[in-house]
This record gives sequence, structure tokens and C-alpha cells, in this order.
Amino acid sequence: MRQIYVDHFATTAVDERVIAVMLPLFREEFGNPASDGHAYGQRARATVELTRGVIREAVGAPDGAGVIFTSGATESNNLIIRGLGEFDGYARRHIVVSTVEHKSVLEPVRWLASHGYRVTPVHVDSNGVVDPAAVKRAIQPDTLLISVMAVNNETGTIQPVREIGEVAKSCGVAFHCDASQAIGKIPIHMQQFGIDYLSISAHKVYGPKGTGALCLATSQSDAHLAPQELGGGQEAGLRSGTLNVPGIAGLARAIQLMEEEAPHENARIRALRDRLIAGLEAHVPDVSVNGSLEYAIPGALNISIGGIRSTALLARIQDIAVSGAAACGGQSAKSHVLLAMGLGRDRVRSALRFGIGRFNTIEDIDTIIERIASEVAWIRTQPVFAPPQLEQ
Ligand SMILES: *Cc1c(COP(=O)(O)O)cnc(C)c1O
Repeated sequence: MRQIYVDHFATTAVDERVIAVMLPLFREEFGNPASDGHAYGQRARATVELTRGVIREAVGAPDGAGVIFTSGATESNNLIIRGLGEFDGYARRHIVVSTVEHKSVLEPVRWLASHGYRVTPVHVDSNGVVDPAAVKRAIQPDTLLISVMAVNNETGTIQPVREIGEVAKSCGVAFHCDASQAIGKIPIHMQQFGIDYLSISAHKVYGPKGTGALCLATSQSDAHLAPQELGGGQEAGLRSGTLNVPGIAGLARAIQLMEEEAPHENARIRALRDRLIAGLEAHVPDVSVNGSLEYAIPGALNISIGGIRSTALLARIQDIAVSGAAACGGQSAKSHVLLAMGLGRDRVRSALRFGIGRFNTIEDIDTIIERIASEVAWIRTQPVFAPPQLEQ
């Protein structure tokens, strides 16, 4: 069975060009960058330092700013949220966070809350957008951190990161942004946008799983972070553990490719997304878009089909890899993002999240429209969907 993959916000295939830079780092150039008394380690170290530069450049971090390599955005988010609190000696006990953050931000924040922090959740409007003025109102004298993502992983909604950065700067509060879904899809520039800490992940941008980074606006020694992994003291003591050199090189190559191809890829992917929604609206009665396409990245489409539970539909379209909710919660978990946007339970239960990506074609889109139209029509002929018969 040919399968069509349109779940690119859950993960992506690794691009062949990324694999090409990784392979020699598994085979011939397998050195440990911390073991640089010999040439193997020195070359590995040089590779890692080169990639730090590539990443700084891509995210608009200043020269010499810290890039802490991690196992992914989950670890980056934990490191910044818990590490900042711990470094601060739990002195400033207030955090501002949007309600639509990824669980890897919300859970560490919840951990701080269980250790005496006050948390002000910033709500979103029905489009899923955070209001920078609401962020400003939420700030208190002892606010330690503002955490708002750049692009939401369920709806593709772009947040006004630059404006939130301005608020953070004017109030003297640190700003963390989870940009896992944003790199190469929208402009991200830490210096211009006033971002102090930026989380990224390789596997969302055609790089390998298990690799990411926390980018800093300052040098590593000025990071104000307590490490969450203790050991050999790698990454200036901020994150112990032998560096994943192939993954790190793959992350940098993946980001480079995203940036290089963004101009034409974003237009191509947007056209596919527009074709998908137009086709679904034409062939499937009662389709609603969750969030607004106006505020979304090109490949994102989150819809609900009236009266069709996503689990029921997904079971019938196993040839199409699309999500009913965020990948991490499992298919039965209800979307906290859609609920935060004020959508009703029925609408949330029938939500489908499409993430269109690099390897999708027009033929994929046309097949998806046809398959969904026919399966929805079939489900709607089933007795449970017939109107109840009133007894005379
Ligand atoms: C995928 C994702 C994460 C988690 O990244 P991992 O590298 O899988 O740990 C965090 N935030 C957002 C917005 C994501 O999409």
C-alpha cells in the first residue's frame, strides 16, 4: 500500500543531503570532540564548532553566542525553564507562558509551579494568536521568564514573536522562544526579535531525531543557567554528555537547507495547502478550518469535519499519515491547543492536523481529497448518522 505522509509537524524524513554529511561522522570521523589530544578528537571538535557558527548565523544570534547542543527541543525547553529557575536560586518566582505551548514547555513550568512558582497563563484568541499586550499585562516585578513559541505545532499559527520580544526587553524580563516549527518557515532573528533563549529540533526540519539545541543571546558563561545533566562538563558545563557529532552536523545541514530553499519551498507548499483546503471544501460537506490560515505557516492545515470523529476517519484512511492531535499526546488525548482557542469538544474530537512538507506532491494532495471525500461520505451513510426516528 502506498502511503502518503502529511504529518510533517510530528516528524520528517531525513533529507538525503543531511544523511550525506552525517555518514562519514559515523564511519571514518567518529572522534569524540572532548578527547582532543589527538587528531580524531580535534577534527570532531572542529566539526562541532563549525556547526555552532552555522546555527548562530541561521537564528540571528550574535557572534560568540552560546549554542548548547541537546537531545532535542524537549531537553532544550527543560534546560531553559528549570535551569533558569535553579540558577536564580528560585528567587524570582513568577513565569509567563502561553496556553498553547508544547507539553515540553508546559510540564517544566508545571514543575516550577509545584515548587512555589506563580504562573500566569496568557490566553490566545480564536485564531490561536497570543496578544503581546496580554503578555505585558501578565508581567510582575518578580517575573523570571516569558516563554512563547514561534509557531504552534498543531495549528501552524505564527506568534508575534518580535512584539513579544519588545515587551520583554522593555520590562527587562528574559524571553524564551520554542522555534522547533519555525526554522526556515518564517524569519527568526534572535537579536532583532529580542529573543534571549531559542529552542530548536533537527527532526522537524528534515534532520535526525534526538538532536537539537538551545541557542543563547549571550556567551555560554553568561547564560545564567544551571545544568540539568551533570557529568563530564561538556558544553561549558551546561550540558554534560558526549556530543552527538553526526546529529549536530545533520542539524546544521538541515537548517541550512531549510533556509536556502525557503523562498521557493514555502510558495510551493503554500500552493499545495491551498489546493488541499479548496478541494476538501468542494468535495466534503461541513469542513471548518481551526485557527486562521492567514496567521499560519504555509504547510499547516487543521480542520474539523462536522460529525466525523477523527479516530473513526483515521481508521479508514490508513494509507494517509495525518494526525488527529499532537503526536506526543497519543491519538486519544484531546488537544489543549484547540481547547485553548475556545473550540467546542465536538470540533476538537473531529480535528485533523495536516502538515504538508518537502516531499509532498500535487498528486498526494489530490489523492488525499479523493480518499477523505469518499470515506466521509461512507461514514455518513452509517446508521448512527441517520437522524433519530421519532415514534408516532
Ligand atoms: C516537536 C516539538 C518539540 C519537541 O521536540 P523534540 O526534539 O521531539 O524533543 C517541542 N516544541 C515544539 C513546538 C515541537 O513541535
